[in-house]
Amino acid sequence: MARPGNKIIQAKLVLVGDMGTGKTSLVLRFVKGQFFDHQEPTIGAAFFTQILSLPEATVKFDIWDTAGQERYHSLAPMYYRGAAAAVVVYDISSMETFTRAKKWVQELQRQGNSNLVMAFVANKSDLGPKREVETEEGEQFAQENGMFFIETSAKTAENINELFYEIGEFLHTSE
Ligand code: GDP
Ligand code: MG
Repeated sequence: MARPGNKIIQAKLVLVGDMGTGKTSLVLRFVKGQFFDHQEPTIGAAFFTQILSLPEATVKFDIWDTAGQERYHSLAPMYYRGAAAAVVVYDISSMETFTRAKKWVQELQRQGNSNLVMAFVANKSDLGPKREVETEEGEQFAQENGMFFIETSAKTAENINELFYEIGEFLHTSE
């Protein structure tokens, strides 16, 4: 329930990043509190809503997840249209997905609106021993591109709520 005087923000959020980086898993963890070791690559529903209560605002997220289109390394303009926030995901155990994530950021900078709130997400932080991408590499790229950076694990739930909370705070303060 929204408190009196509490602002309600409706925001379209899009997920981008290579296949297998954990986009669907991040959303399912946030929206349903679930995780699957064998997440189906394409699931029927690619649209979710979730309400997040912040101290001074309530954010209603319309979350657009890809249903496998990212394998073509670009997404239709309607996917980005009207988005207030974008989450770019890579997998810390794959340098290739980090390299691709930087390309996804460029695509967003071309397609998205200029005041898009962007998060650069290093997922699968639980795979420490298999790490190929150092935290600092992600942090530095994010900083250079005006994005905020966070390392997450959809598997252990580390920093998942924090990710969406941060986005909500950015949306609230930039309104
Ligand atoms: P998507 O293609 O980007 O949507 O990626 P999925 O969400 O389908 O995840 C791809 C695979 O990575 C699945 O087998 C997931 O179980 C696994 N996965 C997703 N997130 C994590 C994570 O944080 N840690 C680990 N260890 N595996 C993950
Ligand atoms: Mg997926």
